[in-house]
Amino acid sequence: MNRLITVLGKEDIYPEYRDTPIGLLLEYHNLNRPLGEYAQACPEQGRRAQLLIGMCMDNRKHLHIPDNFAFIIRAGGANLRYSEFKVSYAIAVGGVKSIALIGHNQCGMVNLIARRDQFIQGLVENAGWDKVLAEEHFTLFAPMFEIGNETDFVLSEAKRLRLIYPKIQIAPLLYRVEDNLLYLIKED
Ligand SMILES: [Zn+2]
Repeated sequence: MNRLITVLGKEDIYPEYRDTPIGLLLEYHNLNRPLGEYAQACPEQGRRAQLLIGMCMDNRKHLHIPDNFAFIIRAGGANLRYSEFKVSYAIAVGGVKSIALIGHNQCGMVNLIARRDQFIQGLVENAGWDKVLAEEHFTLFAPMFEIGNETDFVLSEAKRLRLIYPKIQIAPLLYRVEDNLLYLIKED
């Protein structure tokens, strides 16, 4: 956790993110910036989305942001590897210039193998799957969706996306489910 930077004031936001859509996200969510300001502050942009947010599908997270502020792709572990067309669309057609990649602690996509039996049993009991098919499904897909460690993963995902989209600002962030706040992550 020592790589996380607490954001309790605008001065805590990295200068390169301040007054960008990433900084605004942190101000709205962590600092209670009034949501109504968005449309008024950016009349020239109308109500176009400024930001693409990639975040986990986990149900414990809710972002405090204005309507129309962001495109949001929710995928397990904030893993955008299988959502690239949607990322490209948000940039090319939606016009977003920034991406916030939001991992979170206690993520279910960490150490999937520990939940293998539960996964298979759940598909059999809850969805009516054949056990062998459920086992194959897990074996095929778990390696694609395993993220290893939440913080390391969003850092590596940010690096990967910066290579693909060099003109787009990409910020790796972490959401702590205990306090529902967003944290900046130290990058080397
Ligand atoms: Zn998660």
